[in-house]
Amino acid sequence: MSNKVFDLMKDLEHEQIVFCHDPKSNLKAIIAIHNTTLGPALGGTRMWNYASDDEAVVDAARLSRGMTYKAAISGLNLGGGKAVIIGSPDMKSEALWRRYGKFVNSLGGKYITAEDVNTSAADMEFIHLETKHVTGIPEYMGGSGDPSPFTAYGVFVGMKACAFKHWGNDNLAGKKVMVQGVGHVGQYLVGHLQDAGAKVYITDINQDRIKETTSKYNAEYVDPKEMLNIDFDIYAPCALGATVNDESIAALKCPIIAGAANNQLAVEAVHGRQLIEKGIIYAPDFLINAGGLINVAAEAGGNYNREKVTHDVEKIYNRILDIFKLSEKDGITAQEAAMKIAQQRIDDIANVKARL
Ligand code: NAD
Repeated sequence: MSNKVFDLMKDLEHEQIVFCHDPKSNLKAIIAIHNTTLGPALGGTRMWNYASDDEAVVDAARLSRGMTYKAAISGLNLGGGKAVIIGSPDMKSEALWRRYGKFVNSLGGKYITAEDVNTSAADMEFIHLETKHVTGIPEYMGGSGDPSPFTAYGVFVGMKACAFKHWGNDNLAGKKVMVQGVGHVGQYLVGHLQDAGAKVYITDINQDRIKETTSKYNAEYVDPKEMLNIDFDIYAPCALGATVNDESIAALKCPIIAGAANNQLAVEAVHGRQLIEKGIIYAPDFLINAGGLINVAAEAGGNYNREKVTHDVEKIYNRILDIFKLSEKDGITAQEAAMKIAQQRIDDIANVKARL
């Protein structure tokens, strides 16, 4: 991989990739810093049993690039970074997190970490013992805790913007919404949808999550294999990436896709265009799911104020409508329009910073 790391960094335009190793605590981590034009690179630490080191590097690199654009489009003064720890969650220990925290600290604030897949606020607590460059720490330590409720609220608000675009009003009462994945984000989203009077369908592969959700909310369970056979108005992917693909687009009858999952389009350019051809409105994933980032960014900036964060997350509504306008004006997909605005902001601020 050694030559390929630099090829990858060149292709994706990375500033720095750091490899961290500590055999005593079994730590193997990769911290990818994509772009710090707007500010320090903020992005979570993912723990995953990668099939190979190469796979881990590529994942860290891709995810960190996504964070650059997510922060830029959300108006945050942050760059994009992401870290991965190679291994399964049963390898977690105080020593591993604290050793990792020391590596994060050695970057002097250029990278700020947070939770991600398989890492929690409790893990951040250990990291915090070794560095202040960590956010999403528990509320009892003065942090803001789990960012998922803000991600879910942002998705809900963004979904309403899509409804406004399609139906001319954003009332979700009576609309049929399919939430795929009722984990951290999906469950809060189901709560908002129920409050708005929507008819909610849920699907998941985890029986505990299904039971938890159906016992708390008025939601109807659908087997994952049957999901595409159900009639619904809005599809909310909140599980994995790449669920918007040839097969699902061919089967989907709904006019709107708006959900939390990262990298929803299997092949961005191809499937973004297929959605336009089929007349399906698509909310760019890195824009609609930025609520959690907006929240941890506020915590990292100090003077955390939940009301202000809520207000900032609500800005996703107008941002999505602006993206739809640009996409129509320039004849590009919504995802391309969102990337264009994000890149424009990075270029503009680079210019501002280069001058007195
Ligand atoms: P999570 O792991 O808590 O929940 C994901 C859920 O999806 C789980 O219940 C899992 O069983 C289910 N699932 C997995 N495969 C499935 C399948 N094939 N069909 C149906 N369900 C399936 O994750 P989360 O934190 O809720 O995040 C959900 C998505 O949103 C992820 O893609 C994540 O990257 C993205 N996201 C999350 C946040 C956040 O604040 N947590 C922020 C931005 C983006």
